[in-house]
Amino acid sequence: MSTATIETLQEKVLDGYVINRQEALELYQHSTLNDLGAVANALRLQINGDKIATYLIDRNINYTNVCVTYCKFCAFYREDGDKEGYVNEAEKIIHKVTEAKEKGCTQILVQGGHHPSLTLDWYLNMISKVKKTHPDVTFHSFSPPELIHFSGLFKMPVIEILKKFKEAGMDSMPGGGAEILSDRVRKEIAPLKATTSEWLGVMRDVHSLGMRSTATMMFGHVETIEERIEHVFLIRELQEETGGFLGFIPWLYQPGNESLGLKSASGQEYLKTLALSRIILNRALPNLQASWVTPGKKIGQLGLMYGANDLGSIMLEENVVAATGLRYLMSVDEMRRLIKEMGYEPHQRDTFYNLVN
Ligand code: SF4
Repeated sequence: MSTATIETLQEKVLDGYVINRQEALELYQHSTLNDLGAVANALRLQINGDKIATYLIDRNINYTNVCVTYCKFCAFYREDGDKEGYVNEAEKIIHKVTEAKEKGCTQILVQGGHHPSLTLDWYLNMISKVKKTHPDVTFHSFSPPELIHFSGLFKMPVIEILKKFKEAGMDSMPGGGAEILSDRVRKEIAPLKATTSEWLGVMRDVHSLGMRSTATMMFGHVETIEERIEHVFLIRELQEETGGFLGFIPWLYQPGNESLGLKSASGQEYLKTLALSRIILNRALPNLQASWVTPGKKIGQLGLMYGANDLGSIMLEENVVAATGLRYLMSVDEMRRLIKEMGYEPHQRDTFYNLVN
């Protein structure tokens, strides 16, 4: 594609044109980082305005690290019977939420490994006890692969489990476990995990029950650019069908203490992928989250110039990425400073992108 054609395509995007897969590939391959970032940023200003950028305060609480799925990129799980394996009962989770609320937390992200023997009643009990004690905190929980695991374990359709979870107090679902929505990639990095159509099917069920969810993409490992682009299109298409996604969170694969053992992608690749995601998702999914944990705070902050309108979460607890050996910490003051430095007013939001302050 010639430079003139790429420039025309960039202009058309800003006039409301929604690109297709081939055009996304051409844009990625033939635009400079700066040009792609400028289009994504202009689109972000059109969609989200030029005043504010948001962040969330949450706590990631893992009810167990015992898992029978053995993803190759995961440093967090322990095999059943391992002396480092644990199960956190409802009382411990409640205590963690109480602590988090004192620090302004509005959401708990409750996820676990795929435990081989916890029962449906254990989950229902845990959800309802936590939610009854803390009805004002959003119970943002589980992920499509967990639901596929539960469905096999409890011998029940996913939709029936979700109905019971919702009745017990589940509010919404994080978009975890999407990695790259390509079965070729999934077979290579997580062969026992939910397939592409299973992941999308669970999200369709979640949305059909009136619950919202986020969508993620873990990239920068074995996938091709075409597969990365396909992932973002699958999210856009499901969003056009259900309208249930709250935001999209692309984040970089983090090597360390896991068996994939690859090099992480560069900050340039992160920002270019973020910008392209904004252009593909366009108005269908207005909230794009920059991630600071794996690319680092300085690159994460720059994400606000490459299409993102949100700088993610101050995670009062996070164990999955931390298991790779990556150490990080973010205070509310620092988060607000990072956003201000990029020319935006920082505002705390809740799970549903309502402003809290
Ligand atoms: S990523 Fe999740 S499903 Fe995969 S091994 Fe780790 S805990 Fe288990």
